[in-house]
Amino acid sequence: MKVLKSLFDIKSRVAVLSGGGGILAGEMAKGLLDSGARVVLLDINEDNLKKKVKSLKTNDNDITGYKCDVLDENNLKAVNDKILTKFGKIDILVNAAGGNMTSATIGLGQTIFDMKIENFRKVTDLNLIGTVLPTLIFGEDMAKQKSGSIINISSMASTSVITRVVGYSAAKAAIDNFTKWMAVELAQKFGDKIRVNAIAPGFLITEQNRSLLTNEDGSLTDRGTTILKITPFKRFGEPDELVGTVLWLASDASKFVTGAVIPIDGGFSIFSGV
Ligand code: NAD
Repeated sequence: MKVLKSLFDIKSRVAVLSGGGGILAGEMAKGLLDSGARVVLLDINEDNLKKKVKSLKTNDNDITGYKCDVLDENNLKAVNDKILTKFGKIDILVNAAGGNMTSATIGLGQTIFDMKIENFRKVTDLNLIGTVLPTLIFGEDMAKQKSGSIINISSMASTSVITRVVGYSAAKAAIDNFTKWMAVELAQKFGDKIRVNAIAPGFLITEQNRSLLTNEDGSLTDRGTTILKITPFKRFGEPDELVGTVLWLASDASKFVTGAVIPIDGGFSIFSGV
C-alpha cells in the first residue's frame, strides 16, 4: 500500500493546464490540487479563468491563473518565464485548450462542400497548433530537466468517423500522431523520465456538445441515441471520470508508459455495435 501511495505521489509537483477556465481542465486541476500538486491554469478567457481559480482555491492549496493564448508564441514565452520565475520548473503539462467550433461543424442539411476552409483552418489551428506550440515552449525546459509528463487531449473523433466535425477530427487525429512522435523524440534525446501521452475522452455532456446530444427538454437527440447504442456502458461520461487516468499519467505510477492514447469512453471505441 505504501509503495502504491508513493508511485502516485505528485505532492508539490508543478502542473500547468491550458484551457484552465474550461470544464475538463477544471476537473483535472481539482484532482491535481487534491493530490498536492501546485497548479497553474492558463486560459484566453480571463473572466472564466478568474472564476475557475476562485472556485478551486482553498486555504490549503496552491493555484495560480495566467491569461494566455495558446496560439500566441510570444504570450506563451512570457507566461513560461513567469511560471519558471515563480515555481522554478514545470513537471506536468496538460494541453486542454481546444474543442470543436459551431462555425466548423457541417450543419444539418449541408454537405462538406458547404464548408468554408477558413473554419476548418481555425478549428485545426486551435486544437493542433494549440497543443504543439505550448508543448514546444513549456516542454523545452521539461526536456532540459530530463523529467516531466505531458498529457494531450485527444477524442473519439480521432480514430473513427464522427459525422459533421471534420476539422476537429483531423486535428485530434494529428494530436494522436504528435503524441507518439513527441514521445519518441523526447525519450531518444532526453531520456526515459520525460513522457508524452494523451487521453481520449468519450462522450461527456459539456457546453461544447450539449445541443448536439440533447434537446432543450433534456431528451436525447438522434445523435445522442446513436452514441449510447454503441456505448457498452449505455451512458455519457462525467468530467470527473477523467481524473484518475490523468493522475496516473501525471505520476510515476505510469513511468514506463509513453506515447499512449488512453480512451476513457465507457467502451465506445472498442464496440462495433453488433
Ligand atoms: P471547454 O470549452 O469547457 O474548455 C476549453 C477552454 O479552452 C475554454 O476555457 C476556452 O476559453 C479555452 N481556450 C479556447 N481557445 C484558447 C486559446 N487560444 N488559448 C487558451 N485557451 C483557449 O471545453 P472542454 O469540454 O473542457 O474541452 C477541453 C478539451 O477536451 C478540448 O481539447 C476538447 O476538444 C477535449 N474533449 C472534450 C470532450 C467533451 O465531451 N467535452 C470530449 C473529448 C475531448
